[in-house]
Amino acid sequence: MHEDFPNGSVWLVGAGPGDPELLTRKAARLIGMADVVLYDALVGEGVLDLARVGAQLVYVGKRSGRHSRDQGSIDQLIVEAALTGARVVRLKGGDPSIFGRSAEEMTACRAAGVRVQVCPGITAASAAAASLGVSLTLRGMARRLTFVTAHARAGEALAMDWAALADPGATLAVYMGKAAAPEVATQLIGAGMAPDTPVAVIENASLPNETTVTTRLDLLPLAAKGLRGDGPALLLIGQAVGQDVPATAQAQPIATAVPAR
Ligand code: SAH
Repeated sequence: MHEDFPNGSVWLVGAGPGDPELLTRKAARLIGMADVVLYDALVGEGVLDLARVGAQLVYVGKRSGRHSRDQGSIDQLIVEAALTGARVVRLKGGDPSIFGRSAEEMTACRAAGVRVQVCPGITAASAAAASLGVSLTLRGMARRLTFVTAHARAGEALAMDWAALADPGATLAVYMGKAAAPEVATQLIGAGMAPDTPVAVIENASLPNETTVTTRLDLLPLAAKGLRGDGPALLLIGQAVGQDVPATAQAQPIATAVPAR
């Protein structure tokens, strides 16, 4: 018996970047125990297959720019479901604590006297780096890793400390950054970042329809125009992103080092 999921309580569960195999074992167990699962567009289909037969699956779709429920009504749904005595899982893409509005959901639960716990998940930046075969940090080259969101309210410019973000010794992961890619590039170069800084745009990381584009900062506005998908996409910017060595190129020196017989 697991006593960490009593009736009338809530778990905010990180569903990872999409591939169901990138769920934690704990997430899989909690999903399987839930009476009600509230999920949104970023949660991959295979993940929901883990819910038990008879569990209520509730779509609370949230994707920027599309019709979606507001955060307040999602908070209310979570609380109401728990107050009926159900075991509630609120599934969130990636890690709940990274651009996931988990604080609002926790506050709403606590205000209603509902017990709420968090199960962490693999964030999109980790999945993107894995797909690219690069490291987010790199000894002597990328000592700092910065997660920012480039989501601005309609009609508003991005309010960011560009000078701080233009650090050549950092890797910058820009969530919700596809639409803002041209502005991000212009502002970072304006703040002194080298125009040839490597950039990768990863869409649908860890999913079968994943696409990656690698380019340089000054060419990012052009590359962004060519991106036609409407899946979630992340920008990775920094010297570490350009350090990928294709497996075949890596194998070459070893092969040639074998003396000819
Ligand atoms: N909590 C999530 C982030 C939510 S914000 C996490 O930790 O990953 C939503 C943004 O996350 C998207 O706009 C995109 O920038 C990024 N994202 C989420 N899933 C992604 C995926 N599979 N591939 C690329 N980017 C993704």
